[in-house]
Amino acid sequence: MTATASRVLVLNSGSSSVKYQLLDMADGTRLAAGLVERIGEATSRLTHTPLATGGEVREAEGPIADHESALKAVADELSADGLGLDSPELAAIGHRVVHGGLKFTVPTVIDDAVLKEIERLVPVAPLHNPANITGIRTAQQLRPDLPQVAVFDTAFHTTMPEYAARYAIDVETADAHRIRRYGFHGTSHAYVSRKTAALLGKDPSEVNVIVLHLGNGASASAVAGGRCVETSMGLTPLEGLVMGTRSGDIDPAVTFHLKRVAGMSADETDELLNKKSGLVGLCGDNDMREIRRRIDAGDARAQLAFDIYIHRLKKYIGAYCAVLGRVDAVAFTAGVGENAAPVREAAIAGLEEMGLAVDASLNAVRSGEPRLISPEYARVAVAVVPTDEELEIAQQTYALVSA
Ligand code: AMP
Repeated sequence: MTATASRVLVLNSGSSSVKYQLLDMADGTRLAAGLVERIGEATSRLTHTPLATGGEVREAEGPIADHESALKAVADELSADGLGLDSPELAAIGHRVVHGGLKFTVPTVIDDAVLKEIERLVPVAPLHNPANITGIRTAQQLRPDLPQVAVFDTAFHTTMPEYAARYAIDVETADAHRIRRYGFHGTSHAYVSRKTAALLGKDPSEVNVIVLHLGNGASASAVAGGRCVETSMGLTPLEGLVMGTRSGDIDPAVTFHLKRVAGMSADETDELLNKKSGLVGLCGDNDMREIRRRIDAGDARAQLAFDIYIHRLKKYIGAYCAVLGRVDAVAFTAGVGENAAPVREAAIAGLEEMGLAVDASLNAVRSGEPRLISPEYARVAVAVVPTDEELEIAQQTYALVSA
């Protein structure tokens, strides 16, 4: 890294997509952002936003065969803006890695041993870690000399006490297969809990926060004095809240019941619970905007899906109040949490005895800034705190390589 290098490229490689952002950590500005979708299909699409130049969004459609071609296309787009990966100003590439197991509790510079360990975790994250590994390998080929940093979704949750992380199943079986609760969305929970403390004018060590990350995937966490003590996702991102397409909590006997009565294989049940459940399974839509439109038009199925979603959310808020003992704030974040005022209103409704309330006019305000939506009299602050996983990954990456 040169003395002037202050840029970080953040890569979030999914199975058929790559999201990226280039940030300048000298002043926190975003220089470029984009997305490659449908990698491996004939209709791949690259959308690039040249934020530094303020130019028009550029879109290109056409087959992009694999992650290597995708990253090369991204590199070309960045070069066209004068921000190429060969720039001496690039300090590092930060990779979102979904599963870091118990070993990775902090962001880590990637070497062969680290990559091997991420590979060793593939059995517990079969959908995510392989794509992350492909992204890392490709980036290494493009810039072999540059530090590549892994920032793990699970890391923030490694502070959970064992009684919260361990499932109540046979210990030998659990340990042999590394079965335990790991939690996900960690960069978001870390970022939002810190921002919430700042909104209250406090140090993270002074506050207890419940973070509700409600996006297409959704998870809750209980953060005590800056450390995660409980979170709703488990071995995989399937456990917990009702999500866009995932069931969240379910009696595990449903899976063997489906095997016995419907002959469904493990893969079929996996697909059912991950892709055809949650809001989409309940009412056919997973977009909260559409669900609200249908409710306003009197659609009973959409209303029931919404009620089930809210009921689960309330159960977690109540449980995490009990886990934390004292709660200073409940923070809503991600696509639904930041935008859907009716979800926030319904989730907090009726919890006045627990010190929780939402002010209707504050809740109706639309803003990209962290803000309080609770009335002044409420004992517990309720906040909307936009998440920024890319910034968090860039900050963690830069802190590591510039130390
Ligand atoms: P995320 O995974 O954080 O990008 O969140 C995506 C989800 O946010 C979508 O599936 C929608 O359900 C929800 N969402 C996005 N914008 C809005 C909005 N304006 N109102 C309600 N829900 C929204």
